[in-house]
Amino acid sequence: MAVSVQLTHVTKAFDTTIAVNDVSLNIEKGEFFFLLGPSGCGKSTFLRIVAGFYKPDTGELRFDDTVVNNVPPHQRNTGMVFQNYALWPHMSVAENIEYGLTLRKLGKSERDEKITRALEMVQMVDYHDRAVNTLSGGQQQRIALARALVIEPSVLLLDEPISNLDAALRQQMRDEIKQIHDRTNITMFYVTHDQVDALSMADRMAIMQDGVVIQVGTPREVYQFPKNAFVASFVGETNFISGKVQQTSNGSATIETPVGTLHSKTVYHDLSEGTPVQCSIRPEALIVGNNENNHTENTITAKITAVNYLGRIEEYQLVAADVPLKAVHYNPGIETKKPGDTVQIKISAETIIPLPN
Ligand code: ATP
Repeated sequence: MAVSVQLTHVTKAFDTTIAVNDVSLNIEKGEFFFLLGPSGCGKSTFLRIVAGFYKPDTGELRFDDTVVNNVPPHQRNTGMVFQNYALWPHMSVAENIEYGLTLRKLGKSERDEKITRALEMVQMVDYHDRAVNTLSGGQQQRIALARALVIEPSVLLLDEPISNLDAALRQQMRDEIKQIHDRTNITMFYVTHDQVDALSMADRMAIMQDGVVIQVGTPREVYQFPKNAFVASFVGETNFISGKVQQTSNGSATIETPVGTLHSKTVYHDLSEGTPVQCSIRPEALIVGNNENNHTENTITAKITAVNYLGRIEEYQLVAADVPLKAVHYNPGIETKKPGDTVQIKISAETIIPLPN
């Protein structure tokens, strides 16, 4: 049975390093929750606290209504999948998966039935008797998943589970892990520094920096309404144009910047006149046109410094009043722009997000 997981003011330090700093979070039963952040921000420590390998210094951890701070790992019914698979190389696929069932003292026929079901879930039924050390990386990771799933965990913890796989296999595993979640509805925590993992699979995600949770939200909320410049640049790519607020009213603002006055209609911070801000503008929000003579609102004159044709998209590196910018154009056809061209960039006021420094 899946459980909800609640952390209340949880802190864990190692000597002088505060790896997890006063974290409070409510993860719902059956939620697929991501922890996303750069290396060293405290993601694995967080996961180990939930698994029971570390005890919080302060704060409370609950599974449903039960405080589990002092419950040892083997009594929490959590499953864990590691980046390096952590399978037993001298055992067969079935023996690896069977291990947790034997510990739980299940009979042979029940064990066999559950092993088959777990192998079906990761599409590896034909590999039942294979030695684990003859499997590819992707196949080993599926067996690691099956081993974690077979015990029907209340919470499944995944620590960078696909980062050792190549790009194509990663995409395939993303789809499969998401399907497994949808089918089993287990509460799942997934730790990663890869924004694509988080954006493509998460119900909700927490963005961590230096042990602190900076923002929690759905992928759309975090991408479209980042709380600060760190989140805006960590989740997706963005351009920053620094400036000063001239005027604000009802979710709108005009901002004085080196590339001209920008008008934003996406103001969700408390900004007053004179506040220094970074305007976050996603590359896909910069519409690169020819150097026409129709300067409307939010039009920037820029020079193209590089064009990268990538098939599905074309990227432009630009510079406007010494501010470097990046734009993305979808479905590029014939070549229309080249380095050295002067162009006009138009930006919709809805896509300019002023973030306080
Ligand atoms: P990565 O993505 O690189 O795995 P992370 O976000 O998972 O990083 P943690 O492994 O949780 O980060 O580490 C958070 C901080 O705590 C780091 O500064 C790390 O050096 C420190 N730390 C983690 N475990 C220990 C430990 N056992 N002893 C001392 N310091 C530790």
